[in-house]
Amino acid sequence: MRVFSILITVFLVSCSTESKKDFYIHEDVPEYLHEGIITAANRINETAGETLLSYKGITDVEYENVFLGDKYNVVYHQRKDYIGRHGSMGFAKINYLPAIKGTIGWDIFLNAEKYDFQNVDDEHIEGLHFNSIVDIEGVMVHEFMHSLGIRHSEDKDSVMYPTMEKGYDFKKRDFSQEDIKQIRDAA
Ligand SMILES: [Zn+2]
Repeated sequence: MRVFSILITVFLVSCSTESKKDFYIHEDVPEYLHEGIITAANRINETAGETLLSYKGITDVEYENVFLGDKYNVVYHQRKDYIGRHGSMGFAKINYLPAIKGTIGWDIFLNAEKYDFQNVDDEHIEGLHFNSIVDIEGVMVHEFMHSLGIRHSEDKDSVMYPTMEKGYDFKKRDFSQEDIKQIRDAA
């Protein structure tokens, strides 16, 4: 049995490296949001100095079909039956495996039931005061950070602060010093 358990461990570790990097966008995510999602991943990669998240394409994999060890890390845009906490903008579901002290896959769910995700452009941010409009790139930076195993921060300047507020705060893409350290540690 010893050989068997060693093989399993090796398999899971290689899964971990694989699933950490590749992600897919679900076909239900409107096309105008794709760029914001990919840009968020690239912002993290640039800060890390290496590729932590790489975009692989569009998938039709349903989250009900996702199982532990699945290599599809999918970004979902849920217009109904949002599976996250009520009121939250998004949610990263991490498949954490204690045996390897690591993740072997994750999926991100955007609450499109309650929020209107948009590419909020820098010049118009001050004019937006509608609670329901949310900057896709800001939310994705936060959720991708969770997918890398990074937790919430109490620092209001951190992208990992648990809430975003309307007005200036609802676009939050810039990393704090602590965020940059966390990204580099995750690399
Ligand atoms: Zn969070």
